[in-house]
Amino acid sequence: VWKNCLNFVKDNIQEQAFKTWFSPIQPIKLNENILTIQVPSKFFYEWLEEHYIKLLKIALQKELGKDAKLVYSIVMDQKYSGKDPYTVKIPSSNREKLQLQEVDAPLPIDSKKVKNPFIIPGLQKIKIDSQLNTNNNFHNFIEGETNRLARSAGKAVAKRPGGTSFNPLFIYGGVGLGKTHLAHAIGLEAKENHPDKTVLYVSTEKFTQQFIDSVQSNNRNDFIHFYQMIDILIIDDVQFLSGKKATQEAFFHIFNHLHQKGNQIILTSDKPPVDIQDMEQRLISRFKWGLSADLQAPDYETRLAILKHKVEKDGLEMPEEVVDHIAKNIKTNVRELEGCLNSIIAQATLNKKEITLELTQKTLSNFINNTRKEISIDYIQRLVCDYFKIPVDQIQSKTRKRDVVQARQLAMFFAKKYTKASLSSIGSQIGNRDHATVLHACKTVKNLSETDKIFRGYVEDINRKITIE
Ligand code: ADP
Ligand code: MG
Repeated sequence: VWKNCLNFVKDNIQEQAFKTWFSPIQPIKLNENILTIQVPSKFFYEWLEEHYIKLLKIALQKELGKDAKLVYSIVMDQKYSGKDPYTVKIPSSNREKLQLQEVDAPLPIDSKKVKNPFIIPGLQKIKIDSQLNTNNNFHNFIEGETNRLARSAGKAVAKRPGGTSFNPLFIYGGVGLGKTHLAHAIGLEAKENHPDKTVLYVSTEKFTQQFIDSVQSNNRNDFIHFYQMIDILIIDDVQFLSGKKATQEAFFHIFNHLHQKGNQIILTSDKPPVDIQDMEQRLISRFKWGLSADLQAPDYETRLAILKHKVEKDGLEMPEEVVDHIAKNIKTNVRELEGCLNSIIAQATLNKKEITLELTQKTLSNFINNTRKEISIDYIQRLVCDYFKIPVDQIQSKTRKRDVVQARQLAMFFAKKYTKASLSSIGSQIGNRDHATVLHACKTVKNLSETDKIFRGYVEDINRKITIE
């Protein structure tokens, strides 16, 4: 049977392709109308599925009739050894039905929703809900100095998804700085510009859960295939892939496939690729293939503009001085800025009071006291400079003046001690040095504080200031 199939295939494709993709296949079992073939790898299987499934189907049906089925047995790569070889059934008889089927769930592996979850790559025009929140659009995303690069890269990607060198577009930044908002905005605009393309937004948590479910229900391949069909894939908070080996592996296959096809990938993370812990190196290096753009804490002007936009959008009345006061005092991130605005509005409504500067000051002081400040590299740097009465830009400069070098080293030492940032990230934020310099600084500070009494005094003083203030 297989021989006849092969002959048919041979007549219909190029010789080279036949040699490459069909010669290595071993027929291993024929059970009524079900033929099992063995292929050398999962990649091989995917390639066959993608390029030759139509041909195989015709060949098989000629031999085994309309209900012919094909089962793949994959010779496991080492990674998979120890597990059952997984096989995938192709329900040939349902092929026509499948083509017509519209998939409304973001992932068609929920067997309750979709009768036959198998998807034929390339054959099916899928229709999915993009899971985008229309409020998070570009119009509502205020541009400022601190988000300009990321925003304009996002705009470019939305215009020509997959057509720029920004693939993947990797957006990173701390909490509440607008990563999720920007990711949605890109998706929305890309969809508007390219209605024919499928766009999908998914959080990393959801992606991981879907993956785990798919493994449990023996649908791992369907999971991967599904994601490999998306034209513009947005995955939010990829740092949560950290430590999840199997999910990383699946994502790796998806990433490669999409990237190779020139489909757009957009990722967000709370830190730059190099700083993500417990992430496979090959993924980290791929994250850096395109463009990494960061979102920083908004400066005063941006904060003011964001607040004004929100007040206007919600049709609120608010004295100028109130808005200004909030913008001046809430510096951490946009989410907190919004939270503060909301709580002032809530206070005023609740107590049937007008929104005044006084009310604002009161609310704000509660707000600030309740959110214990996080120790950031920036904060440490300022504190150290303040202690030695050196301007911050000195520490940032190239100068090798003794007192500045010392302050710089101390700042690096405490940044290592009190933040989770990597050596290279600390170096890039404190005077644009490399990780070896930071490592050296940490050692020097340690040595000196053991041998030099005065120096130890400095270290203890600063330490106290950092932990108490
Ligand atoms: P992240 O994903 O980085 O934690 P979000 O995207 O959830 O942050 O943003 C937090 C809040 O701040 C959201 O309500 C978002 O709409 C708002 N926001 C963030 N950046 C901007 C901006 N540049 N302009 C207007 N709103 C913003
Ligand atoms: Mg987010």
